[in-house]
Amino acid sequence: MKRNLGNIIFIVLALTTVIVWAVFPPEREGVENYARYQVGMTIGSLVITLMSFSLFISTRPRWAEPYFGGLDKMYMTHRYTSTAAFLLMFVHLLIVPLHLVNLALGNYLAMIAFLGIIAIVLPTLAPRIPYLNKLTSGTYEGWKSLHGFIGIFFILGYLHSVTVRAPTTKVAINWNQIFVFLGIGSYIYTEVLSRFLGKRVPYKVEAVHHPNNSTSEVVMRAKGKPIQHAHAGQFLFVRFKGDKSLDEAHPFTISSAPHEDVVRVTIKACGDFTRHLFQNLKPGMDALVEGAYGMFNYKTGGDKQIWVAGGIGITPFLSFLRDLKTDLAHDVHFYYTVRHPEEAVFAEEIDGITKKHPRLKAHIRFSSQHGSLTVDDIVKNAGGNVNAHHVYMCGPLPMVQAFEKKFLEVGVSKDNIHYEEFNFK
Ligand SMILES: Cc1cc2nc3c(=O)[nH]c(=O)nc-3n(C[C@H](O)[C@H](O)[C@H](O)COP(=O)(O)OP(=O)(O)OC[C@H]3O[C@@H](n4cnc5c(N)ncnc54)[C@H](O)[C@@H]3O)c2cc1C
Repeated sequence: MKRNLGNIIFIVLALTTVIVWAVFPPEREGVENYARYQVGMTIGSLVITLMSFSLFISTRPRWAEPYFGGLDKMYMTHRYTSTAAFLLMFVHLLIVPLHLVNLALGNYLAMIAFLGIIAIVLPTLAPRIPYLNKLTSGTYEGWKSLHGFIGIFFILGYLHSVTVRAPTTKVAINWNQIFVFLGIGSYIYTEVLSRFLGKRVPYKVEAVHHPNNSTSEVVMRAKGKPIQHAHAGQFLFVRFKGDKSLDEAHPFTISSAPHEDVVRVTIKACGDFTRHLFQNLKPGMDALVEGAYGMFNYKTGGDKQIWVAGGIGITPFLSFLRDLKTDLAHDVHFYYTVRHPEEAVFAEEIDGITKKHPRLKAHIRFSSQHGSLTVDDIVKNAGGNVNAHHVYMCGPLPMVQAFEKKFLEVGVSKDNIHYEEFNFK
């Protein structure tokens, strides 16, 4: 319940917006097509409400994580509220009676906001459209920079609502203002204030190792007070100074244990940033770290557990294992699946830790030799019944989704399936 409270509150607030506009409707006098007008106004207000939620989540509030199930899950909510606001914006435009769409300043502002939001959202929905792709240079960072303008269009949308001819009730206007303040305040915090409020903690790169020919292990030490790494399985955002291509914040799971006096991240070279990092990151470079975030924590799960790591999805499990100072308090079947043996980074270390913990059974699977891991294999190894097991997964999204579906079919409850989202877009 607690990890859904944030979403429940958002839904209640969005519904309240609708109710407020129904109970305190705009003035009727002088308005033709009143019903359409009222619905249009309600939807416009709903767009502001939903956009303010998205802007609030972009502030990455650590204190709100328990109410959503972690920052990675909050970004999923962000995706839903943004998509809903985007679609409702079209409905608003179509529904407001045309005679109100006059040449007032407010409507010009609305048009600018509308086109601006389309320019930001479409490359996300359709990254392969050639012209739109140019706006973002086809990269995540380009998309993120463009995305930073969304708050400006939110403000324009609000100015539209107050400058357009709209005989609205005070209560509805005041209710709307709450979300205007939430949205604008969140935007200013994200784009300006967060830089000065100590969110980014200075670190120095102490060592860079390459456990295979596509993976980097980066060891970083805090220059002053380190970030708060509350439990194994959390992630951070890091950017590196002194190399322009590395000076952009990317999320990585902390693969070291919370008790270590350094933080380690293990990074697979898969795109522009991570490939450049593999070749160019050097000890001695400065880093800015933000975090730690996330609630992927096996310690809150039941007695019997199944852990599944696919490829670089090993990182939170490395942290779990490195954190084991005393006996493991759960019975764990741990599956680490990679295509080829050379991809199984830290296999020896995992082996060594497994030998010290009788309740931990590690299975390293090379799919090129033994075929792909299946949920049926896992169920068989667990004795044929996994109804009471808690499942922890991290790996490529298609694998995690397919496994989740199958685990549900074989009787694992949805509440007992936990996974780390490696994708925020
Ligand atoms: C919570 C979380 C934990 C992660 N932990 C690890 C880890 O331990 N090891 C590891 O190798 N990878 C991890 N990743 C994935 C890693 O962040 C991306 O692979 C990396 O940012 C890709 O950048 P790129 O420019 O090399 O690749 P690109 O090809 O540009 O990006 C590939 C995809 O990665 C995502 N991405 C890219 N840039 C960013 C960014 N700045 N912020 C958020 N997402 C971005 C986008 O979905 C994008 O489509 C994690 C991701 C998340 C969300």
